[in-house]
Amino acid sequence: MGSTITCDVAIVGGGLAGGLIALALKARHPALDVRMIDAARVVGGNHRWSFFDSDVSEGDRWIVAPLIGNSWMSYEVAFPAHRRTIGTVYHSIDSERLDAVVRQTLKPSALMLSRVVTELSATRISFADGDRLDARGVIDARGTGDLSVLDLGWQKFVGRELRLSVPHGSERPMVMDATVDQLDGYRFVYCLPLAPDRMFVEDTYYSDHPTLDRAAIGDRIHDYAVDQGWQVEQAGREEAGVLPVVMSGDFERYWQSSGAGIAKAGMRAGLFHPTTGYSLPDAVRTAALIAARTDFTGVGLHEATHEFAREKWRRRGFFRMLDTMLFKAADPAERYRILERFYRLDPSLIGRFYAGTSTMIDKARVLTGKPPVPIGRAVRALAGRS
Ligand SMILES: Cc1cc2nc3c(=O)[nH]c(=O)nc-3n(C[C@H](O)[C@H](O)[C@H](O)COP(=O)(O)OP(=O)(O)OC[C@H]3O[C@@H](n4cnc5c(N)ncnc54)[C@H](O)[C@@H]3O)c2cc1C
Repeated sequence: MGSTITCDVAIVGGGLAGGLIALALKARHPALDVRMIDAARVVGGNHRWSFFDSDVSEGDRWIVAPLIGNSWMSYEVAFPAHRRTIGTVYHSIDSERLDAVVRQTLKPSALMLSRVVTELSATRISFADGDRLDARGVIDARGTGDLSVLDLGWQKFVGRELRLSVPHGSERPMVMDATVDQLDGYRFVYCLPLAPDRMFVEDTYYSDHPTLDRAAIGDRIHDYAVDQGWQVEQAGREEAGVLPVVMSGDFERYWQSSGAGIAKAGMRAGLFHPTTGYSLPDAVRTAALIAARTDFTGVGLHEATHEFAREKWRRRGFFRMLDTMLFKAADPAERYRILERFYRLDPSLIGRFYAGTSTMIDKARVLTGKPPVPIGRAVRALAGRS
């Protein structure tokens, strides 16, 4: 017979969304007994999360500020016919830092790592070893729900940190270098100059299928570094991702796929950008929403997170439509043209696009002008959406 633990709020999944909620809750309600449960031994897994300054509102900045490891004043993009520097601040957080800050904030007994959850409800968690946790409210932040209920393309990548024997001389991130060979859909390389002799290089594909050939992509990262003239002394930490790019899907079905009536956050709540699969901006907003509450009951947290996520999903039909055009109307080798054209637009419009806050005028600007995909195919692709 295991023991029963009681607490105020139990966050299951100590990744990006769960970590930010824990930090925000403890900052706003220091006396609240918050527990964080994860199957892994560390908080945040093995990730580097980056975001534009414009992704996070002034009022929510306090949530991410202690986590930022690198910031740059501008970033670059490059396409076959167009290269541009954009004066938007760009930030990066690594999971080791999230792990360290969460450990400083939560008492050791509140951080329940390496724990296998067998059952979960809005107020109770059962563990494989027979222990039980009763909470006023449970938040499920265990990563993606059942993605098979959505109609998806994929953004997949392998990123590797390179230590160089000669400084690279780059001042700013290269967020999209699409001058590379177009393989497996829309391909670009993403580079973050972490230090004068450290470069993070990520080879990325907007692909029809989720299979990731890590060895082949690793070779391409090496070739890219050689092409840039970088002298690689050592290849370090590596990460990989296969993120959903949503063309269509029923929000309620996705929500229910990982349990009804339980509060959710992060990818599990459908709180990610349909076009990039990135969830940091929504994770910050969710942490702010939860920290501003005083009702931490399971029912109250479920209502609040469900309503928040449903509203975001409803407002993001535009991005799902663009994803359909990208994946269904454009030939894979021509997909880069859509992004090349997009990156000629106003920087503040680009910022709102990534923050998921495009206005009606932004949407009209993105869609007007000579379409970079065959218009007949675009119409057929949109008509065929489920
Ligand atoms: C390599 C990579 C890089 C990315 N880069 C960016 C980026 O730069 N910017 C951005 O906005 N987005 C990025 N994303 C996309 C997305 O924002 C991240 O995946 C983000 O971590 C999702 O947050 P989350 O909290 O929903 O899930 P996760 O961060 O994946 O956290 C889920 C947690 O739940 C735990 N868990 C799972 N199952 C169980 C279980 N049964 N019991 C207990 N614990 C469990 C896991 O161990 C994990 O810690 C990236 C994704 C990847 C994979």
